[in-house]
Amino acid sequence: MNDRRTFFQKLILGAGGLYSLNLLETLSLMKTESIKNPSRKLIATWNNPKAIQAAWEVLEKNGNALDAVEAGARIPEADPKDTSVGYGGLPDRDGDVTLDACIMDHLGRSGGVMFVKNIMHPISVARLVMEKTPHVYLVGEGAEIFAEAQGFKKENLLTPEAKKAWKDWLVRSEYKPKINSERHDTIGILAMDGEGKLSGACTTSGLAFKMKGRVGDSPIIGSGLFVDNEVGCATGTGLGEAVIRKVGAFSIVEMIRNGMHPQKACEKAIKRLIDIKEYGEFQVGYIALDKKGRLGGYGLRPGFQYITADEGKVVLHNADSFYK
Ligand code: ASP
Repeated sequence: MNDRRTFFQKLILGAGGLYSLNLLETLSLMKTESIKNPSRKLIATWNNPKAIQAAWEVLEKNGNALDAVEAGARIPEADPKDTSVGYGGLPDRDGDVTLDACIMDHLGRSGGVMFVKNIMHPISVARLVMEKTPHVYLVGEGAEIFAEAQGFKKENLLTPEAKKAWKDWLVRSEYKPKINSERHDTIGILAMDGEGKLSGACTTSGLAFKMKGRVGDSPIIGSGLFVDNEVGCATGTGLGEAVIRKVGAFSIVEMIRNGMHPQKACEKAIKRLIDIKEYGEFQVGYIALDKKGRLGGYGLRPGFQYITADEGKVVLHNADSFYK
């Protein structure tokens, strides 16, 4: 039986967040099998079954957490239907798709890129910044030059659908960047591999119709992603301006370090956002995984979902939220 089928046959739907996974609806659900090594865990923002599957395939073959999170993040980056990540991402207010990503491994190494155009897989560029340069970040043109030198090809990432959405927005929205409280699809993905090593990745096209040059939380180590292999890791999605102000991911890992369960740490970090008033009704969702393999996820508002692969089960969770 191929990996894909085996994987989906292990799928169950979460009791707390029963939700129909359209891609999987037609597959019959079979009795849950346990994976060989129960320490392997995955958690990712939003309903991203193909991303979690790609990451799981790496872990299942005894691959490491870093390879798993990169493989997972590359799926929405290449998906033209995902309007918040990579190819198909909604552009900035000038019609350019600009991408941000970062990655962090169990050694505490990190790499990131920001404001990158025409490169489909910023997460892989971020990894190469981490592995092949003496730096943590490359941005804009510098990141694009580095990516090309590493063999990435330049591609137009603006799909006809995204272009149309931008043209429509120009008419309605008077050329102002949009702060949205609705759905974000940024993928943050965290993994623990069979050796108990932690890694994380986060990749996004950022807010739709943002100002040129705007960067959110997603590529910022400590805000959009943080991994401490001794403690745990966290990532998030939503209005980056708010997350940056509270240093979201790092604060969650620090709370876990001080003994908090990842679920409680996500809840506490979300509560810290409620004094931010100037953006109106915005959304943020956090997820976390600790060194013991415990998972957490919580949203500021209803609608945040996250997906986990845990001891042979894939579960889509409708996250609980601060505002009901
Ligand atoms: N966090 C992303 C940003 O602010 C947006 C998102 O999650 O959709 O750029």
